[in-house]
Amino acid sequence: MKKPIVILGPMESESALLIRHPENRTSQKIGAFTYYEGTVNGYPVVVCRTYIGVVNSAAATALAIQRYDPLCVIIQGTSGAHDPALHQGDIILGERIVHLGRFFTPHRDRGTGADAFQWEPQGSEIVSLDPEDFTSVLYSDSRILAIAQTVPNKNGRVIRGCIGAADIWNRELDMIAHLRRVLGTDCEEMEGFGVAQICALFGVPMADIRVISNSEWHPQEEFNEKFGEQCQMFVLQVVRRLIAEKTLL
Ligand code: SAH
Repeated sequence: MKKPIVILGPMESESALLIRHPENRTSQKIGAFTYYEGTVNGYPVVVCRTYIGVVNSAAATALAIQRYDPLCVIIQGTSGAHDPALHQGDIILGERIVHLGRFFTPHRDRGTGADAFQWEPQGSEIVSLDPEDFTSVLYSDSRILAIAQTVPNKNGRVIRGCIGAADIWNRELDMIAHLRRVLGTDCEEMEGFGVAQICALFGVPMADIRVISNSEWHPQEEFNEKFGEQCQMFVLQVVRRLIAEKTLL
């Protein structure tokens, strides 16, 4: 049995095209998640809509790993720019993936308010990577990213970078600049770290591939679902090349 490539997308607009695509499609439901099994160029793939957020995406990933023993997991979808130089349509390959929702705050007395700029970023406890310490940065598989960099993007650039994820949508430019300064993020989304953490726990290669769908730096660049479709089409080309070149096999 060939190990399938698992492809994940959070929203309808970030998964419907990929779900429709595989040939000889069947589906299997595990809890709230539906896994669409099929083939692309004769190779098995499984596509799943994870729904929004780190917890949903982590659960969908763990169940997929347990059920399918995948060759790799690709999480993809839309994201908001942290780097002012990025624009809608640019594709970010998540060379590094960081958590935007893990902080330890200094004590403040009652009545003195809150200051998120003083919060200290914390690593995550990923025991299979480091039983002694907390891990701050996770990585997409370099072989998958090397293939992804050969895929043309007619809507923008293809750039390696740092993707941040948490269950938050940041729109405050000073906070966006701060997160970029302390964590090195180029863009943000709500699932990548959950998928990366579960893949690290199980020792499964993964990649986070995102399109920029919105940027607070450029007020006219508001979120638009059409970018979710663009990212899926890009990722489909990546998967085709992974299969054709037998990457990871
Ligand atoms: N505003 C709507 C839609 C949320 S979209 C709502 O609140 O229901 C959230 C999805 O888009 C997530 O899957 C996330 O990964 C992605 N996303 C796109 N741009 C984002 C941004 N700037 N910050 C966080 N997530 C973003």
